Amino acid sequence: MRPLVYHRNVLDLATSVQYVKGIGPRYAAMLQEKGISTVEDLLYYLPFRYEDRMNPRGIAELRPGEMASVIAEVRGSGLLRTRRMPIFEMTVGQGGNTLKCIWFNATYLQDKFRAGQLVALYGKVESSTRGHDRLQILQPQFEILHDPAQAGAEANEEEGKWQTLETGRIVPIYEAAGKGRLTPRWFRRIIHGMLERLDPDLPDAIPPVVRAQMGLIDRRSAFWQAHWPETGESLADLQAARTPAHFTLIFEELFFLELGLELKRRRARAQDGVSFLINDQVRAAVKRILPFHPTQAQKRVLKEIVDDMRQGRPMRRLLQGDVGSGKTIVAFQAAVIAIENGYQVALMAPTEILATQHYLSARRILEQAGYGIVLLTGSQESLHKKDVRRHIAQGSAQLVIGTHALIQDSVEFDKLGLVIVDEQHRFGVMQRFRLMKKTGAAEPDVLVMTATPIPRTLALTVYGDLDTSLLDELPPGRTPIKTRQVSDDMAHSVWEFVRRQVKAGRQAYVVYPVIEEGAMAGELKAAIKMYDELRNHALPELRVGLLHGRMSPEEKDAAMASFQRGAIDVLVSTTVVEVGVDVPHASVMVIEHAERFGLSQLHQLRGRIGRGAAQSYCVLMTGARVSPEAQQRLDAMVRTQNGFEIAEMDLQQRGPGEFFGTRQAGMPDFRVANLLRDRDILELARKQARFVLEGSNEHITQQHIANAVMHLRTHWNRRYGLVEVG
Ligand code: ADP
Ligand code: MG
Repeated sequence: MRPLVYHRNVLDLATSVQYVKGIGPRYAAMLQEKGISTVEDLLYYLPFRYEDRMNPRGIAELRPGEMASVIAEVRGSGLLRTRRMPIFEMTVGQGGNTLKCIWFNATYLQDKFRAGQLVALYGKVESSTRGHDRLQILQPQFEILHDPAQAGAEANEEEGKWQTLETGRIVPIYEAAGKGRLTPRWFRRIIHGMLERLDPDLPDAIPPVVRAQMGLIDRRSAFWQAHWPETGESLADLQAARTPAHFTLIFEELFFLELGLELKRRRARAQDGVSFLINDQVRAAVKRILPFHPTQAQKRVLKEIVDDMRQGRPMRRLLQGDVGSGKTIVAFQAAVIAIENGYQVALMAPTEILATQHYLSARRILEQAGYGIVLLTGSQESLHKKDVRRHIAQGSAQLVIGTHALIQDSVEFDKLGLVIVDEQHRFGVMQRFRLMKKTGAAEPDVLVMTATPIPRTLALTVYGDLDTSLLDELPPGRTPIKTRQVSDDMAHSVWEFVRRQVKAGRQAYVVYPVIEEGAMAGELKAAIKMYDELRNHALPELRVGLLHGRMSPEEKDAAMASFQRGAIDVLVSTTVVEVGVDVPHASVMVIEHAERFGLSQLHQLRGRIGRGAAQSYCVLMTGARVSPEAQQRLDAMVRTQNGFEIAEMDLQQRGPGEFFGTRQAGMPDFRVANLLRDRDILELARKQARFVLEGSNEHITQQHIANAVMHLRTHWNRRYGLVEVG
């Protein structure tokens, strides 16, 4: 019988960390909390920083203001009880030079240090505030490298070997885990030991020609060197993850992401779609609905869509356009093509307000064409809804407009040919998208519209399986919006300004960050309270309305509708108004506590105005305290109206996860890649993934492709949620 023990003494990637020397079940459980369960997971637990302990800095040469790592001897330490908090102070020295270390609230350090210990410290150096030391480090990270009191133990050969991991080299610093019990030092020993026993032939599914072209090093060396850099490696390259080892690991990760997206893209296109016919009659119908001359960008984008629609394979296209760039008419033109070909069209909006608005403009623009247009919303009477569904099933409803959820869940079409998804802010719908086609019927074309410009890196990641069209031109006759930042103690003059604008025939939005005063009471003025305030005191002679997320759908629609028809002068609202609502006479947008909003959100809000010919104004009111980052956002708003510039900056400030507003918006959970840092590598990975799947290069065999796809399935797919890659 084969023994069940691990007889080869070699670790492969799938081995549970429990069997790695020095871990065992108890530590394995702690690692599990960090999402580390296999050898592979632990290999990807890369240092977040590296310390050059080869040439540690001399205390004498340190300058205030710099980050430095210092190796020195403990001279003395003590706990200081001040009135505000206990402070732990320690003096370390090299010869005659000393340095003070200070930790706040750190009673737990009391028994940690003894004179004579050798310690490594890392932190920001500053001028000393008191005492006779010249310099100090506040709250440094530290490690005890050598303790003469325990020198006996060091005779132990094992200990001696570990000691060489701590000094005289570039040392990896890991984030601690297990509530501090798994220290950086612990990780160093465990990971070093694990690497020594790692299977020399790690599975490698990237075709050799790609490895060569990209200059990748072999996988085992890549892991070794990312954890334990060779002595000549530049510290700056290491911190920036730009060594050959880092490049290799990042490229691999992004390569498999792009491979998955590309497969998905190809698979969607391999299905049978509708090839729409474009003849003179269709062309004339498309032209006839235009209420204005389309912009060059609108013409170009329509052509891209039409080219797709004529093909026998299904369209999967993303239409990106800044707020107000005129996406709606382009969508309606595509709808006309499908309807003229005898197909039905579904237009899905994220909210009822928007669905209703699309319905009203569709009625207005497509009325003369005599199409059957229906609206399906949750708040309609069930009898009415039943009737609408019957029309859809029979095919007499040619354009069906409703919310995403509604159309997807309960509607059966007779002959669906085109789906238009208005995603506005809610990204990732496409990922969960189920097409509501009949079995056996052709796959409908899909056009996804988004109003927030998405930086290219993110578009490649989240929408990498879609083709992209860009509306990068605003319709003519728009006057640029004037944007000002105003402190909220100037509120009275803002209201005076609003009053004058309304007298001149305009309407205004006033937006607040929250609905009711909650945890931050006293700091935030709530919409409801301000609504009363404005209506009763500040603007008593104006018609003030209220719109917020806790109102019922009917109440919301009623409020929005009366604002749209001009029965309300000033609409006090929370951010529910943010999504594509179009009220041409609204030319003033006052945003209270603008410092609390994200940049893309501010941009979206501002996009509600500036839609007519009149001069529009955006007033950013700010509270007493504005952080430097918030001020940067406000400055950007005042400086530019370019959505892409704003999106780029928002991404820089908040990172990819937050940019999309929710964590689960289809953003992959990367192991080593970082989209802000690794854009260039993402582009390379995308090119190479396409190159491999094209299969036209003699150095890429069917076996290479099969290996890569298999590796994607077994190693990356779950992480990226790319679903059933065929
Ligand atoms: P968005 O891209 O934000 O959805 P819309 O489609 O709502 O933008 O268009 C914004 C406004 O601009 C609408 O009032 C629309 O009628 C108008 N518009 C769109 N295209 C043109 C054009 N080519 N010429 C003049 N006005 C246009
Ligand atoms: Mg087609």
